[in-house]
Amino acid sequence: MNEERPLKGCAVEGRNVSPITCRCPGCGEELEMFSDDSKITCPKCGREVTIEECRANRI
Ligand SMILES: [Zn+2]
Repeated sequence: MNEERPLKGCAVEGRNVSPITCRCPGCGEELEMFSDDSKITCPKCGREVTIEECRANRI
């Protein structure tokens, strides 16, 4: 039988993800992304920051 289980957003099991700390290109806010995120929204200015931009602005 197939049991459908809801995805747990905060559970990281066996995934090789590393956090990246960077600055928002828009406002300079310090952000933390994980290497499996493709983009996040800056909580300060609302700008979408892609993983590529984050890597380029690493702290
Ligand atoms: Zn920002």
